[in-house]
Amino acid sequence: MLHIEGLAAAYGQSQALTDVTFGLEAGEVVTLLGRNGMGKTTTIRAIMGLLGSVGGRVTAGSLRFGETALIGLAPHVIARQGIGLVPEGRQIFPTLSVEENLVATARPGRWNLEAVYALFPRLRERSGNAGRNLSGGEQQMLAIGRALMTNPRLLILDEATEGLAPLVRAEIWSVLGRLKAEGQAILLIDKNLSAVMQLANRHVIIERGRTVWTGDSAALAAAPELREQYLHI
Ligand code: ATP
Repeated sequence: MLHIEGLAAAYGQSQALTDVTFGLEAGEVVTLLGRNGMGKTTTIRAIMGLLGSVGGRVTAGSLRFGETALIGLAPHVIARQGIGLVPEGRQIFPTLSVEENLVATARPGRWNLEAVYALFPRLRERSGNAGRNLSGGEQQMLAIGRALMTNPRLLILDEATEGLAPLVRAEIWSVLGRLKAEGQAILLIDKNLSAVMQLANRHVIIERGRTVWTGDSAALAAAPELREQYLHI
């Protein structure tokens, strides 16, 4: 479904990615692991066509979603191919209500307002409240709900559980588990290794802009030296 080969990207003179190579098939959950500043968010920005908006660009490699080559396409065109992003920092519309946030990006499919409210009952209770008046956890639920409303074939989450209270975090992991059970393809960045090892089929480790290892949770669990070398845990 997603094929990334030899991806390189730079911000000005600084080469943030030199060789990122991995794939993700339909129904798979894949994580991007690596320490801070190694290139995980940059990889996601490249997929979504968002590098230009933060002063970066793709300098080499190929990026395909199904049969579509993504490099050079505008972010809204990439989103319309069926990729939904829950960005770092959530970026919901602060002055719009929960409901307005949800319908703003809606496209027809399995996920509609009713389905998102069933997944996150808290959002139904808060449906008339402005985005800026939500708690951090509610904003995160809204960001996920909004991405689902686009009915993506691939859902991408960048640090979706960062900074949340333990209970809310647990709810988000449980929702991601339900999405996986339905066959939703998911690519995620998250620092909670034990949670991602339970959820994901495969992990991709990025070190200084390069993919250095790919494997499943059992392989990662069996390689403490890998965790020490690349994740410092
Ligand atoms: P983190 O967990 O801290 O988000 P990351 O693995 O997602 O880390 P990136 O954010 O992709 O890492 O950063 C990769 C490199 O690119 C880092 O050296 C970072 O300083 C640099 N970088 C990221 N964004 C920009 C930007 N907008 N302009 C210039 N350099 C950037």
